[in-house]
Amino acid sequence: MVMYKKVVLITGGSRGIGAAAAKLLAERDYVVAINYKENHNSAKELVKSIHAMGGQAAEFQADISDEQQVEALFSSVLLKFGPITHLVNNVGVLAQQQRVESMTAERINHIFQSNVTPYFICAREVIKHFKEHEDMSKCAIVNVSSAASRLGGANEYVDYAASKGAIDTFTTGLSLELAQYGVRVNCVRPGCIYTDIHRDGGEEARVSRLAPQLPLRRGGTALEVANAIAWLLSDEASYATGSFIDLAGGK
Ligand code: NAP
Repeated sequence: MVMYKKVVLITGGSRGIGAAAAKLLAERDYVVAINYKENHNSAKELVKSIHAMGGQAAEFQADISDEQQVEALFSSVLLKFGPITHLVNNVGVLAQQQRVESMTAERINHIFQSNVTPYFICAREVIKHFKEHEDMSKCAIVNVSSAASRLGGANEYVDYAASKGAIDTFTTGLSLELAQYGVRVNCVRPGCIYTDIHRDGGEEARVSRLAPQLPLRRGGTALEVANAIAWLLSDEASYATGSFIDLAGGK
């Protein structure tokens, strides 16, 4: 059997869900390119921990909301590891909880420039990498959306929820465009997951506050989301494209 080298790029892979996916995919013999924006230490520590378990990984600084930095990121990964075979479009940001009636255009544009446009640009760049491979049907993309795309984010961040609604539609459209090559494009929609994103939204303990109201009566872990990402990327999910997995404790 011919073994192919699996190279995955995870945007925003240095913390939270991205970091859990990075570790899991490294365990499953992917070479892991970990993108981050600011916190070099946490990216470096993650790479060290992957090396310690015998995996292959490196960190790549780039602000994913800047098109030129994204292009440079894909060139750097190509240079270090060769063409990418798998992409996890994972970066997502929140702004301080606020009702729509108070939102500025600056805030809304920041959310869409971080959460939506980069998913398109990273897909555009990764398709060039996929085309370097003899068998593109081994290549796959997972987009990280949110349960907020279904629920609306009322009184907290409707802008963020709407940006994730765009990612759901993007997943459907891109999956149909790439199906002719056998490239699969799928999506996970996490609910309340214990990560630092909630601190950035102004309520560090948000998951603990909401957990009792969830059907499963608890928040989720980054690993529980990473498991679904890893499955969707893998050959085990070979007939899944344009699919959505909700990891939201039943809500
Ligand atoms: P997180 O813990 O806040 O981690 C954010 C990651 O993104 C970090 O690695 C950060 O790097 C990076 N990042 C932020 N802005 C960036 C930019 N412009 N360019 C490059 N990297 C950037 O996030 P998370 O909770 O794991 O969320 C991951 C995904 O899951 C997001 O799409 C989020 O919307 C989605 N999600 C999360 C939850 C939840 O409850 N946690 C629920 C639903 C959906 P630095 O640290 O270097 O800045």
